[in-house]
Amino acid sequence: MYCDLHTHSTASDGTDAPGDLPLLAKRAGLSAIALTDHDTTDGIPAFIEAAGRVGIEAAAGIELSADPAPLFDDDGRQHLGTLHILGYFIRHDAPHLSEVEARLREARAQRNPQMIARLKELGMDIDYDEVIAAADGSIVGRPHIGQVLMHKGYVKSIHEAFLKYLGQTGEAYVRKDRLSAEEAIAAIHEADGLAVLAHPTQLGIDSAAQLEHAVAKLKKLGLDGIETRHSDHAPRDTEQFGRLAGKLDLVTTGGSDYHGSRKTVSLGGQKVPFAMYENLLEVHRQRGGG
Ligand SMILES: [Zn+2]
Ligand SMILES: [Zn+2]
Repeated sequence: MYCDLHTHSTASDGTDAPGDLPLLAKRAGLSAIALTDHDTTDGIPAFIEAAGRVGIEAAAGIELSADPAPLFDDDGRQHLGTLHILGYFIRHDAPHLSEVEARLREARAQRNPQMIARLKELGMDIDYDEVIAAADGSIVGRPHIGQVLMHKGYVKSIHEAFLKYLGQTGEAYVRKDRLSAEEAIAAIHEADGLAVLAHPTQLGIDSAAQLEHAVAKLKKLGLDGIETRHSDHAPRDTEQFGRLAGKLDLVTTGGSDYHGSRKTVSLGGQKVPFAMYENLLEVHRQRGGG
């Protein structure tokens, strides 16, 4: 028996509706599935309702993006890694979590106009409507701003646009408003969920000692578990993270990080034992949740 504890729906950047995932999971031979959309729980009600209808175990989840910088001792240095924290068995309508989601949504909506305002200050003729047109119906992002800059002859390529203006060291760059790891874990706990470090390889830490140091910091902030199985992990990563979980007394989880047809990863592709789901549920019960 298998489960998949890391999936995305159209509520974030997946291509399957949240209400379709339970049936797809059942057809893929899974006994449990968790929905973990980026920074939103909008898909949870439809997902849980469908899981009940289809007859499959389901966990309400979320995947919050947080700022990885404080995990490193050399705080000021630039880290290109990403820190994602999964929440499991959350109350999707918990007030603090809803506030956090609203704040992140607002920050995303503000960021592109802020970057365009900076480009204008730098003397460029560009406005938001042109960028929206360049996006042609997809979610507006920096590549579309780059496209407009290129078409207007300010840069020769989108790469140059990132280098000079839109990348982390560019003149018009506006930081993403990111949660701290502490805020992300607290929001998940306030919603009675368990907080799990997603795909540790994406933190971009090469040394095992440094990774342990970073995960130990997260554990101090209340982290409950580590995602050991993931489509990006080689078998030796899974082993390493499993050992680390044992050492730091963290639960282990796993999932495919399925995004529908947007990525090549398939639902249930990680062969995660159903026992991982049961164990997670048991830890959640012990902590007094649901
Ligand atoms: Zn992620
Ligand atoms: Zn994900």
